[in-house]
Amino acid sequence: MLNWRIGDVKVTRVVELETTGGTKFLLPRATYEEALNIEWLRPHFCDERGKLKMSIHALVIETPTRRMVVDTCLGNDKQGRKAPTWNNLSGPFLRDLASAGYARETIDTVMCTHLHVDHVGWNTMWTDGKWRPTFPNARYLMGRAEFHYWRAQREDEELQLVFADSVRPVFDAGLVDLVETDHQVCEEVSFVPTLGHTPGHVSVRISSRGEDALITGDFVHHPCQMARPDWAAAVDYDQAASTRTRREMFEKLAETTTLVIGTHFAEPTAGRVVRDGDAFRLVVG
Ligand SMILES: [Zn+2]
Repeated sequence: MLNWRIGDVKVTRVVELETTGGTKFLLPRATYEEALNIEWLRPHFCDERGKLKMSIHALVIETPTRRMVVDTCLGNDKQGRKAPTWNNLSGPFLRDLASAGYARETIDTVMCTHLHVDHVGWNTMWTDGKWRPTFPNARYLMGRAEFHYWRAQREDEELQLVFADSVRPVFDAGLVDLVETDHQVCEEVSFVPTLGHTPGHVSVRISSRGEDALITGDFVHHPCQMARPDWAAAVDYDQAASTRTRREMFEKLAETTTLVIGTHFAEPTAGRVVRDGDAFRLVVG
């Protein structure tokens, strides 16, 4: 399992699903041909035909005193998802989490960068005929604006269903803390507002002993957007804002040695942003 050290903090990647291709509906402008033009994407983030590689994974943050999970993937047994392969999953995610040393009962904090279907799934699990909190001893941190936006959602059936099976049960169990987009979680961990993909979207900053990392969430879905920050995701709710956020974030990151850990980046998943002409590039290894 991939992991990284940031000072006293350890971050571990627990994968639920890895994919190659099928990203036309997510990043419509990243055609095979366009992707092949960005040479540094190969071999890690794009195959020789131009198909983008992506991953759905959770990131566990372990500090000297805390055990936290950032984003909880798709979850098992969920129904009514538009992507057919996201329904009725029965994957070994919890087993993998436990074998990495993080049994679900030992997690004290769950953070959702935003409340989309692939970031909230394992908030709950189907037990004894009901959706129940997967992490019974955790506080679940969610952005206040994000929570209210999705709770008021009435137009899209899938979105309402996601809220009902993966967000409302933890809220009703009294485990949710609604926080601001710059919330300080603990000494080493804080939220950074990265709006545009959703109304209350956040990234997660880790700082320890002079080292820094940033867990992106979905302000960037794939490293190709470093070369082309204007390639908004079809699911960005405000594409002008998400493009502005990508540019601003990459500009700031390129001036630092911050380790950027991508929420949907395929292995090796993390690297450093550097300038590349009038855009940017991810340097790995
Ligand atoms: Zn996502």
